[in-house]
Amino acid sequence: MSKVKKKVKAIKIDLDKCNGCRACEMICSAFHANPKYSSNNPARSRIRVIHEPLKDVYLPIYAGEYTKAECTGRDKYVIDAKEYDECDFCRASCPSRNAFKEPDSGLPLKCDMCEDDPPQEKPLCVQWCINDALTYEEREEEVEEEVKLEDVEIGLGSMVDKYGLQKVIDTVARMAKKE
Ligand code: SF4
Ligand code: SF4
Repeated sequence: MSKVKKKVKAIKIDLDKCNGCRACEMICSAFHANPKYSSNNPARSRIRVIHEPLKDVYLPIYAGEYTKAECTGRDKYVIDAKEYDECDFCRASCPSRNAFKEPDSGLPLKCDMCEDDPPQEKPLCVQWCINDALTYEEREEEVEEEVKLEDVEIGLGSMVDKYGLQKVIDTVARMAKKE
């Protein structure tokens, strides 16, 4: 399979610069409100700041993939004399906590890098973080070219036209057996 270049978007988080102001949560929830900017509710944000002022812990985390089952990770991490739970760093919408779930429906939330309509040039949480705790980065990576489903469908359609449906089914079945 041939390789193609893919743009990878990432956000670098500098914990030392985050003061827990939660502007990132506000703008994210407002941008994803329906209609847009009609409300802001940090519980609907796709970035959540783990906020423990007494321990001087402020940890912005982006919503990642949904997972059906919780994991067994219960370790503690001490970084620069601050103690964090393993779960604090996890991006999953999982059954063990309320973060990254739409409060009304319970549906999982996931960061879309503000590509929702209208797509933003830079993620809004980065733009609104006046402390520069969040920095947007883009890089190119070489990945395997994805097979486009519509190309496969067009190809199969023309083969069916030429050879008939049964012949195409028999051939695909024979090829699958050989693998
Ligand atoms: S806007 Fe920046 S400083 Fe404020 S909570 Fe979010 S990441 Fe931290
Ligand atoms: S990049 Fe956009 S969608 Fe993702 S957390 Fe930031 S504001 Fe929300």
